[in-house]
Amino acid sequence: MAITDKIYIKNHRQIVSQIETSFPKSAFSGATMDILYQGEGLAKLDDTTQDRVLDFATDFLDCDCESNPHCGCAEEKFTTYLLELREQGLGPDAIVDVMGDEYMLYAYPGDILSFLDDSIRTLEAVETLASVDGNREQERRAREVRESLVR
Ligand SMILES: [Zn+2]
Repeated sequence: MAITDKIYIKNHRQIVSQIETSFPKSAFSGATMDILYQGEGLAKLDDTTQDRVLDFATDFLDCDCESNPHCGCAEEKFTTYLLELREQGLGPDAIVDVMGDEYMLYAYPGDILSFLDDSIRTLEAVETLASVDGNREQERRAREVRESLVR
């Protein structure tokens, strides 16, 4: 399961009652993107919620793919966003706080921790493979990113 399957909408119940349409709690579920982030329900949200929802749509759902928002770009961008927060030195709890403030989303810190661990292991594997292949440039890049995550 990808980390984006474990990102949830904060205040889900209130939002559902505001837009009077039910949608899944998971932020990256197809129905949530259609109803909350692209639908007409947006206008019915209170100002604060609307701002956060719009920020999310602007930052993650702005690609020009034909199948937007179901093209996978949003998931990819959000994964990068999480790694960037980690590079800034934030731990799982702080990362959860930031996504709550910025986009009204939440996740369990334990899931974020596993995601970061998996990312580091993937980079280690890339590094090892690159080293075996004699690809110094790729090895260096993977090491740099990995080191920025464990700092
Ligand atoms: Zn796309």
